[in-house]
Amino acid sequence: MILLVAEHKDSKLKPITGELIVFAQRLARDFNQPIAAVLLGSNIDSMAAELKSRKIDRVIAVSHEVLVDYSPHSYISALKSIIEREKPFVVLAGHTTQGMDFAPRLAASLRRPLIAGCVECEKQGERLILTRQIFNAKMNMKTAVRGEPPYFATASPGAFPADEAEMGGNAQIEKLALDVPAPVRRKVIERSEAQKGKMDLSSAPIIVSGGRGLKQKENFSLITELAEAIGGSVGASRPVVDAEWLPREYQIGSSGQTVSPKLYIAIGISGAIQHLVGMQTSRCIVAINKDAEAPIFKVAHYGIVDDLFKVVPALTKILEDLRQG
Ligand SMILES: Cc1cc2nc3c(=O)[nH]c(=O)nc-3n(C[C@H](O)[C@H](O)[C@H](O)COP(=O)(O)OP(=O)(O)OC[C@H]3O[C@@H](n4cnc5c(N)ncnc54)[C@H](O)[C@@H]3O)c2cc1C
Repeated sequence: MILLVAEHKDSKLKPITGELIVFAQRLARDFNQPIAAVLLGSNIDSMAAELKSRKIDRVIAVSHEVLVDYSPHSYISALKSIIEREKPFVVLAGHTTQGMDFAPRLAASLRRPLIAGCVECEKQGERLILTRQIFNAKMNMKTAVRGEPPYFATASPGAFPADEAEMGGNAQIEKLALDVPAPVRRKVIERSEAQKGKMDLSSAPIIVSGGRGLKQKENFSLITELAEAIGGSVGASRPVVDAEWLPREYQIGSSGQTVSPKLYIAIGISGAIQHLVGMQTSRCIVAINKDAEAPIFKVAHYGIVDDLFKVVPALTKILEDLRQG
């Protein structure tokens, strides 16, 4: 069995859950295994129903007041009981703040291997091979898991596109009553949300990102106008944030956010490795840069080699005209 741990917030499945389903479906095909999604929380019925519509075999739903807020202690205890019962082949979690918190502890407590931040999976003979990126995504490392299952793996956000998930399942929902211990050593005192109106870039489908090529803060309006015309969110390279043209949460890259939108438009961004690691898994990358040798063109699917001050206003105008019909 492939067991995936669904991630959610405010009673809604997070995008990484869809990506875990794709990861699980690929493994299930290769190793001829059934898939079970584990849902831990309280008020989880609608999410269980949503999971049921994907092509998976089972939804194991554990509803408990202790699980109202995520805590590694309670999660690990519940998951250990489920793993003991189900004896899965692989356990999948997101390579997210939450997954990175509980998955290594869970794997270590069972003395089993964890391959973190996977971007691909394959079967070689009977062996499971998982690929992860190393050295700031400059190299891929293939890892063969050894020993007895379960094997643990976390999925790098954006590596397994959620829209490739096979639908049309009719999974059985099993409500499991477990004795879940209350969290120890940490307590959620308050949750403060990021300012409203600022989209979480990690789930934005379209991002228009600007870099130092814009030269000064006032020119950044070219980016916001294009983003508005195309219905996207705004992102930036680090120099833009360092120069305080935009707040830190807009920064994309190794010391900023990792994003994986359907469309990423990089404008006046050279494509330094620290920027690329934050956006190179985007489905379609368009680069606008006057330097044909800029490294951004190595990852771009489409490129415009020209002056952004000429190209961007023209592009915005075309999009606005299209919108107005
Ligand atoms: C530890 C560390 C962490 C880092 N983390 C990050 C990070 O998270 N995110 C990040 O982005 N960077 C990060 N950096 C910085 C990174 O190394 C680069 O310096 C940065 O990404 C460059 O930003 P840029 O592409 O906007 O600017 P530049 O490299 O200066 O590129 C500007 C580009 O604009 C083009 N241009 C100029 N004028 C025009 C014009 N008129 N029309 C069209 N094109 C034009 C130029 O040809 C050039 O390619 C980090 C660096 C370090 C050391």
